[in-house]
Amino acid sequence: MSEPIITFEKVNKWYGNSFHVLRDIDLSVAKGERIVICGPSGSGKSTLIRCINRLEEHQQGTLKVDGVELTDDVKAIEAIRKNVGMVFQQFNLFPHLTVLENLTLAPMWVGKMPKKEAEERAMAQLKRVRIAEQAGKYPLQLSGGQQQRVAIARALCLTPKIMLFDEPTSALDPEMIKEVLDVMIELAEGGITMLCVTHEMGFAKAVANRVIFMDQGQIVEQNAPHAFFDNPQSDRTKDFLSKIL
Ligand code: ADP
Ligand code: MG
Repeated sequence: MSEPIITFEKVNKWYGNSFHVLRDIDLSVAKGERIVICGPSGSGKSTLIRCINRLEEHQQGTLKVDGVELTDDVKAIEAIRKNVGMVFQQFNLFPHLTVLENLTLAPMWVGKMPKKEAEERAMAQLKRVRIAEQAGKYPLQLSGGQQQRVAIARALCLTPKIMLFDEPTSALDPEMIKEVLDVMIELAEGGITMLCVTHEMGFAKAVANRVIFMDQGQIVEQNAPHAFFDNPQSDRTKDFLSKIL
C-alpha cells in the first residue's frame, strides 16, 4: 500500500495523573487502508481513535495525521478535523434540526459554503446512504438505523480523507445493523481510509485489511482478518475471541 496517512509513534496517554490508558502505541495506517479495532470494554479503543482527531490528547510520543503532527497548535487541529469524519455509537444528531439541516450545518457555518451548494451536497450524501426521502424529518422520527445512516452522511458532507467509526452498530436493534454495515461496506469499496471499532466480525472479514486487538491500553496483536480469526497468537486474543464468536 501507499505512504502512511496516520502514524502513532510510542504514543502514551493518561487520564488524570495515574490512569495509563494508552501504552506505547505504534501504529501506521496506509492511505486507503481499512482497519478494524476490537478488544474488551475499557481496553482503550475509543481513546485511541479519538486521539486521531484530538477529541482526546496524548501526553507522550508522536501522532501525525495527513502529514500534520498533532500538538496544541489549534490551526493544525482544525486542519486535521476537516479531513477526519467521525461516527459515534450514539448518533449525536441535533434533535431540533431536520435531517437536511443536520447535514448542512457544518459546511455552511464552519466551511462557509453557500446554502444551495451545501443542500445539494447533503442530498447527494443522503442518496448515497439511501435515505434521501427522509431529508425533511427530525432525527427522532427515524429508526436507529436510519439515524446512524444520517450520521454517516453528515460526516461525509465534509469530504473527509479518513473516517473513524466508534461501535457504530452497538446501539442498534439487530434488524437495523445490516443496513448500516451495508452502507459502511459501500463506503469502504470507495477507497476511503477507515478505522472502525467494532465487534462485527462479518464486517471485519468483508472489508478490513487488518484487524487490531487491544487489551489494557496496548495493541496486543494484529493481522489480516482470516489469519486473525482463524489463527490468533496470544492467549488474550484467544480468550477474547472465544467470548464473542
Ligand atoms: P474502550 O473504548 O475500549 O471501551 P475507552 O477508551 O473508552 O475504552 O476507555 C479506556 C479506559 O479509560 C476505561 O477504563 C475508561 O473507564 C477510562 N476512561 C475513558 N474516558 C475517560 C475519561 N474521560 N476520564 C477518565 N477515565 C476515562
Ligand atoms: Mg469504546
